Amino acid sequence: MQVQAIPIQHVIPGVFQDTLVDVLRADLVHPIVSGNKYFKLKVYIAEALLQNKTTLATFGGAWSNHIVATAWAGREAGLKTVGIIRGEQPPILSQPLADAADYGMQLVFMSREAYADKQAVMKRYRQQDWYWVNEGGYGHKGVLGAMEMLQQPGTASYTHIVCACGTGTTVAGLMAAALPHQQCIGISVLKGHHSLNDEVMGLLEHSAYHQPPVFFHDYHFGGYAKHPPELIEWMNGFWRATEIPTDIVYTGKLFYAVKDLVEKNYFLPEHKLLVVHSGGLQGNRSLPAGTLEFL
Ligand SMILES: *Cc1c(COP(=O)(O)O)cnc(C)c1O
Repeated sequence: MQVQAIPIQHVIPGVFQDTLVDVLRADLVHPIVSGNKYFKLKVYIAEALLQNKTTLATFGGAWSNHIVATAWAGREAGLKTVGIIRGEQPPILSQPLADAADYGMQLVFMSREAYADKQAVMKRYRQQDWYWVNEGGYGHKGVLGAMEMLQQPGTASYTHIVCACGTGTTVAGLMAAALPHQQCIGISVLKGHHSLNDEVMGLLEHSAYHQPPVFFHDYHFGGYAKHPPELIEWMNGFWRATEIPTDIVYTGKLFYAVKDLVEKNYFLPEHKLLVVHSGGLQGNRSLPAGTLEFL
């Protein structure tokens, strides 16, 4: 898959008061390999091919965007894929796992205890000539891939780059690619993930960057993947105003955080924001029909 330029969409004034907010629509790069997951995977895949590996293996839960992206991108690169899945096999596969299986991924279900010891899992399969990718694409090569999201035409004029954070690999890549006048802001979608800053700094051990990041931990809406009515209402209203679809796990919370920070006068009139839409829309399929106006 060759990515041309990532489209940048201007948000009409009013939605974020008078603050200039543009959106880097990485969600439009591909319907399945949602935004940042594709970028985080590409350097791992290049290395797997370089090492003549036949198979990519990785870890994830039943709702993992990373698992689906690995299945798709691996197949596209001519690699077999194996997904080590947290938890026992359910009678009916979740939509992401069904998609991953459709793309040819071999799913290996594991108890939560067995899954937690990743070193032991990798050891168990060491006879296999597999190339292992960390859960969520976490790691230095994920950072190198994520840099490309900001190395795009038209991104130089922004003063702030804002994104949603799970593992923090994406924000680390954005930091490594940001220009000296650009501040990266990460919105954590996990509850109480206060080690995020240290983890991002660890990821950047071998990369230069200009400004330290700022993280916000108050926009998780109750925790990972929690989606109270207030969030759903915001996502529907944001869609009506902008025609930008968001997801319940990451980007709905991201854009809500931007709105809230704007209302709290966090930004100055001269600031120009680029908000990274990292995709993840397929996760909305776990909602009952009709919950969102844009499914
Ligand atoms: C996985 C994911 C993220 C989190 O990315 P990290 O690099 O783990 O911080 C953000 N947005 C979407 C849509 C994702 O699927």
